[in-house]
Amino acid sequence: MRDLSETLLEWYDVHARQMPWRVGPVDRKAGSRPDPYVVWLSEVMLQQTTVAAVRDYHRKFLQIWPSVADLAAAEDADVMAAWAGLGYYARARNLLRCARAVVTDYNGVFPDTYEGLLELPGIGPYTAAAIAAIAFDRAETVVDGNVERVMARLYDIHTPLPAAKPELTRRARDLTPDTRPGDYAQAVMDLGATICTPRSPACGICPWRVPCQARITGTAPVLPKKTPKKKTPTRFGFVYAARRADGAWLLETRPDSGLLGGMLGWPGSDWTDDPEPAAPVVADWQQLDAEARHTFTHFHLRLKIMWARVPQGAAPDRGAFVAADRFSPSSLPTAMRKVYDLLPATLREN
Ligand code: SF4
Repeated sequence: MRDLSETLLEWYDVHARQMPWRVGPVDRKAGSRPDPYVVWLSEVMLQQTTVAAVRDYHRKFLQIWPSVADLAAAEDADVMAAWAGLGYYARARNLLRCARAVVTDYNGVFPDTYEGLLELPGIGPYTAAAIAAIAFDRAETVVDGNVERVMARLYDIHTPLPAAKPELTRRARDLTPDTRPGDYAQAVMDLGATICTPRSPACGICPWRVPCQARITGTAPVLPKKTPKKKTPTRFGFVYAARRADGAWLLETRPDSGLLGGMLGWPGSDWTDDPEPAAPVVADWQQLDAEARHTFTHFHLRLKIMWARVPQGAAPDRGAFVAADRFSPSSLPTAMRKVYDLLPATLREN
């Protein structure tokens, strides 16, 4: 098995992707090690999100909060606003909890083992393994979608996911070397992202083309197999965009638990099959013809948009008015931003 990892590391030495949070193989060999804070931030952001989407956010976070102590001291609302648009907002809340735990319980220093990292809020087995391998060069096995695909093909495994996960993980673990495990973890991910891609694997230039079983049998394009997903349900809701005479917008911070928890949004109804209207303030509400549509992991959401101008003395039963010069649409999560973008221009502009 050692041969396979060595072959891949030789390929990685030449073809490693450059990423802002990565210390490349040349610098690693020269003794450089990545800052665990930088690695942790990238891994939390990359959960459920692509490298392309994460780059700008990662840069922005490091500019505003260059160290874990800076982030731990940040205001919750500032972090949530900086995260807006990246999705899966529970990650942003866990990011803050984790930064504060590192500062309070670990003297500002990240634990350097898989088990230690797993103790931190918001760090599950995948992220703990990734940080332990990449930041601390521990021989941990990191198994993401890329790695599962590569293993399924390398060993021609036809069991569908998710049932195949234990076998794919075992295969990946068997290949993990004791030398350069951090580089190796990133090398398998790079192979899956750039060569062994989902639809058209470039087997001709793959460092594992000789031993690869799926290349030999011609099954690579159909692997890994997946158990068909159930149809995604649709939920409906109402949102209410009210603008006061002085230009202030009626917004609310959503409860910490639940979807978009802790994020700023428009007051609205529950999201169900058949929601009840739930206006936050008495007003002459107008309904837009267009709906805001957004897809979360487990359901599609369709929001009916109500809007109104309200007088200066309006007294909403929830939410609070935010002055026009303190409101930035970019601090809204994407679903709520879509609502804003659909509002009549006359309402948005003055
Ligand atoms: S030979 Fe082809 S299918 Fe096999 S690991 Fe390489 S790119 Fe993937």
